[in-house]
Amino acid sequence: MEELNPFKIAQAQLDEAAKILKLEPAVHKLLREPLRVHEATLRVKLDNGSIKDFRAFRVQYNDARGPYKGGIRYHPEETIDTVKALSAWMTWKTAVVGIPLGGGKGGVICNPKEMSQGELERLSRAYVQAFYKVLGPDKDVPAPDVYTTPQIMAWMLDEYEKLVGHKAPAMITGKPLELGGSQGRGDATSMGAVYTIREAAKHLKMDLRKSTAAVQGYGNAGWFAAKLLQEMGVKIVAVSDSQGGIYSPNGLNPKAVLEHKEKTGSVKDFAGATNITNEALLELPVDILCPAALENQITGKNADNIKAKLIAELANGPTTPEADRVLQKKGIFVIPDFLCNAGGVTVSYFEWVQNIYGYYWTADEVYEKLDKIMTRAFHEVLDMSLKQKVNMRVAAYLVAVKRVADAVKLRGWA
Ligand code: NAD
Repeated sequence: MEELNPFKIAQAQLDEAAKILKLEPAVHKLLREPLRVHEATLRVKLDNGSIKDFRAFRVQYNDARGPYKGGIRYHPEETIDTVKALSAWMTWKTAVVGIPLGGGKGGVICNPKEMSQGELERLSRAYVQAFYKVLGPDKDVPAPDVYTTPQIMAWMLDEYEKLVGHKAPAMITGKPLELGGSQGRGDATSMGAVYTIREAAKHLKMDLRKSTAAVQGYGNAGWFAAKLLQEMGVKIVAVSDSQGGIYSPNGLNPKAVLEHKEKTGSVKDFAGATNITNEALLELPVDILCPAALENQITGKNADNIKAKLIAELANGPTTPEADRVLQKKGIFVIPDFLCNAGGVTVSYFEWVQNIYGYYWTADEVYEKLDKIMTRAFHEVLDMSLKQKVNMRVAAYLVAVKRVADAVKLRGWA
């Protein structure tokens, strides 16, 4: 049976890197588990007057390189193991791009699609009431993730500042601009991914203006990726969301698809395109495949049917280790998740820096700094991959784990 528990997958990926790095057993052991796991039950009053309990988590994986950093997800199928895995990936992500932060992640088991704005506000404030003592600009800095928004960050900031009795905009990132958000945060993840795709295309000698792409997931990460890739001349032939996908070999207009999704609730039934399943989207004959939805989409079952030359993992954990082996054998170049989607946390870091010194940058300044960091990180990983003759995921782990391990050792933790 293929292993699909995301935390076990994250640990197996670390184990592989630890072996190549010949990591000391004590350091390896420390890096296999989160340093702290916080759990709470949030009691929230619903609009009908009843009280509902929601299980909530904040996992603080490692802060050897700086305060814990990572988003909060609201999802009905959230599990502690998913949050643990995501917090581990955040630790490697901040390390691979070389920003002075650690890794953490939060989650609430809830279905935001069935909740009113008032209920979401009370849930978000309850989350901060439960965890505010372990959060803060120098401790742990949350951000948005799947189904959480700048508005939710604003409620969380407001609740935190009420509880601690002073302003603290750097306690959370992904805020609206009016409350200290950064220019460029909205499309930062996709912009960062597109910089790595540009560098990968140079390495693979692919002409982006003659390439096609399919994007799975049409939320923040997926929609911006489709738009930015199209602006670089890539033809977007398929996109999807949780309801299903659409395919048009002549190319889709990402903006028109977004408007259709906003009007109807899904990308499905878009005029001029054929409806397809999410499974079929992954197997289309395209040059670039961008998984931008959830974990475990490319598995041992479908990896052999994938035809793309380049996979850019905007989502976290979309590929299982078994699928990785198949993709490597087929010679498919993968830009691994915690490198590909690190643009989001990098601009979150810029937001934190701007909040701390109270001086704000223009969008152009943000994108220029982001491009430098993503391009440098991509080439550090590519060089490692060529030097060690390992795939890009293992190479990214080698770069990141070494940085965290060095910080752990310098602090005398292991
Ligand atoms: P989002 O909530 O904005 O969008 C998620 C999208 O995925 C929606 O369009 C939803 O319909 C779709 N989806 C859900 N289940 C699906 C399924 N089974 N098949 C196809 N589509 C499905 O979330 P997002 O912020 O775009 O995050 C997407 C992925 O990118 C996640 O893995 C997230 O962890 C990762 N990511 C996001 C950011 C960021 O800054 N937004 C940063 C790093 C990583």
